[in-house]
Amino acid sequence: MIQATEYVTIGPYKVPIVYGELRCPDGTIDLGRYHNTPTPFIEIHRHLTGLNLPMTKLHECIEFIDNMYHMELAEWKVCVLEVTIGSLIRDNRQLVADLQT
Ligand SMILES: [Zn+2]
Repeated sequence: MIQATEYVTIGPYKVPIVYGELRCPDGTIDLGRYHNTPTPFIEIHRHLTGLNLPMTKLHECIEFIDNMYHMELAEWKVCVLEVTIGSLIRDNRQLVADLQT
C-alpha cells in the first residue's frame, strides 16, 4: 500500500500521488512518472511549481487511464491529450462547473 496524503479520483479508482526526486537515466529531471506496481500510483517531482505541477499531474493521470484501459497510447498522444484537456478545463469554467453539479 502506497502511503500518500494526496489522491486523484479517476472513475472508480483512487490513485495516490506522491512526491520525490525523479531523475531520468541521463541525470536530467523527470517531471513525473506513472507506476504500475506494487499498486498504481503517480509520482511527481517535488520541486515542480506553477502550471508545470497540475499539467504533470494531468499527464500522469492520462498515463494511468492509458494503462488501466489498455489503450496503448503513444507518448505523443498522451502529450496531445494533456495539453488539450488542460486547455479545456482551464478555459471553460462554465463547462467544469456544470460537470460538478
Ligand atoms: Zn508520459
